[in-house]
Amino acid sequence: MTDAAVAKKTEVNAEQDLTDGFHLVIDALKLNGIDTIYAVPGIPITDLCRMAQGAGMRVISFRHEQNAGNAAAIAGFLNKKPGICLTVSAPGFLNGLTALANATTNCFPMILVSGSSEREIVDLQQGDYEEMDQLAIAKPLCKAAFRVLHAQDIGIGIARAIRAAVSGRPGGVYLDLPAKLFPQVMEADKGAKSLVKVIDPAPAQIPAPAAVKRALDVLKSAKRPLIILGKGAAYAQADDAIRALVEKSGVPFLPMSMAKGILPDTHPQCAGAARSTVLKDSDVVMLIGARLNWLLSHGKGKTWGEAPKKFIQIDIEPKEMDSNVEIAAPLVGDIGSCVSALVDGMGGQWPAPPADWTKAVTTKKDENIAKMAPRLMNNKSPMDFHGALGALRTVVKERPDAILVNEGANTLDLARGVIDIYQPRKRLDVGTWGVMGVGMGYAIAAAVETGKPVLAVEGDSAFGFSGMEVETICRYGLPICIVVFNNNGIYRGVDTNPTGGSDPSPMVFVRDARYDQMMEAFGGAGVRVTTPDELKRAVDQAMDSGKPTLINAAIDPAAGTESGRIGNLNPQSVVRKK
Ligand code: ADP
Ligand code: MG
Repeated sequence: MTDAAVAKKTEVNAEQDLTDGFHLVIDALKLNGIDTIYAVPGIPITDLCRMAQGAGMRVISFRHEQNAGNAAAIAGFLNKKPGICLTVSAPGFLNGLTALANATTNCFPMILVSGSSEREIVDLQQGDYEEMDQLAIAKPLCKAAFRVLHAQDIGIGIARAIRAAVSGRPGGVYLDLPAKLFPQVMEADKGAKSLVKVIDPAPAQIPAPAAVKRALDVLKSAKRPLIILGKGAAYAQADDAIRALVEKSGVPFLPMSMAKGILPDTHPQCAGAARSTVLKDSDVVMLIGARLNWLLSHGKGKTWGEAPKKFIQIDIEPKEMDSNVEIAAPLVGDIGSCVSALVDGMGGQWPAPPADWTKAVTTKKDENIAKMAPRLMNNKSPMDFHGALGALRTVVKERPDAILVNEGANTLDLARGVIDIYQPRKRLDVGTWGVMGVGMGYAIAAAVETGKPVLAVEGDSAFGFSGMEVETICRYGLPICIVVFNNNGIYRGVDTNPTGGSDPSPMVFVRDARYDQMMEAFGGAGVRVTTPDELKRAVDQAMDSGKPTLINAAIDPAAGTESGRIGNLNPQSVVRKK
């Protein structure tokens, strides 16, 4: 045999009989039904990215790890299985860590998989390339963190990561894979046997019958009951059971922002447009997958009014109970099981809530909707937020299966109220932290995971945090239409430098910046619009074409308010020194 022939034969044998860390990671993910990786390639995971694609996985390559991480997190929310983010060591890992912490805070299952440097050198702090004790740093910021040192443990490591991410309260998991692991070789059949398919990764958690009865007794005693649906309810994918509970009970419901659409916002029992009234005046509140955190004023204070309240709370996490106020009827279990048990327990007949309450809610709601209507129909130029959002509201009404991604300050707070959502898991936004920068990562994963058109409504400041991913959107040809609400700055675009110096105010951006040209630079479509009518036409055209599009919507720079709707959280100095 020639030398070349010998080399070829050895290679073939190697392929047949041997496997290595790279292959085992890919095989373990695939075995568990994970088919997509959100990544930024580099040392030591470059070949892993290539090989995963070669093995038929979808590898979406980003420009910054934070965006890849946000994509993985929202993929987890949409699919009820962990989204995977893959990064390089130290700086890449740290960039992904923000997304991991955000996923954990929001109860989204994701796994941040990062390559890392040589353990022996890292632990002796001898100055390796990208040296960092990543496992220790990740631990306090996620639900669980694991490191795999030997190829034969890859299967169990990935199994543990998957189970930790999705069981109980979902969250982020960190998986540390040192560079040396990937080329470790094993016999192929032993490797195959070392893999673990996770059986029943998120087991049902059935509530205790006594807890179900207690909850129904409290609900029955109510004169002014309210159901609050949170994003845990959207995540649970128990849409039919939730609808049955709401409709059978006749109780008005209030969706938190990412729970909009479990039942349509236009449902007769939806109290979204009477939010202040129902929070203030209700006497019994059933929380389904929603926490009494800052987004609900911690269940107390002015927002919740004088009327004494009793809370029923459905949550998979027992420690969530009594976190802010006493919970009269805690119902611990998964939402599907808990809600079904409640519906069963209600029997054939269930008394409707007192008519004076449901009528009061409907009257208030109709009043508020009527008051808002003319503001949404204004066709002013420059546009104000309401005019622009009125146009987008119609777009979403006509395209109920599109996914809306939304971030910003005024752009977020006003869109949440104005744009009705008609189907579950169609609104993705800043979540529990109210964080900026999730926009493009969420939009990309929403398009990749669902194949549905995506409309991303972005404040100009919010867009800036992940704007470079427009290249990613164009590269993969994703059906994403981004609308940038361009008011030249943060909150508003009219601040000036108080010294009269030449630096601009820290609150403003380049005036009339052409964000639309960013999209054109990468082969997508860019449009600049100045009226709600133009905006509506441009979005329709973009969504019909399915082509990556950025619409630069010129908003009156004086139209916004400081910090949007949460100005109360923004301390302001009363002392202004000259
Ligand atoms: P929102 O911000 O929309 O109010 P939160 O994120 O505050 O929602 O609350 C979501 C809650 O849902 C969390 O407390 C979480 O433990 C819970 N949760 C998530 N998934 C499930 C599930 N499958 N079953 C029960 N509870 C769940
Ligand atoms: Mg702005």
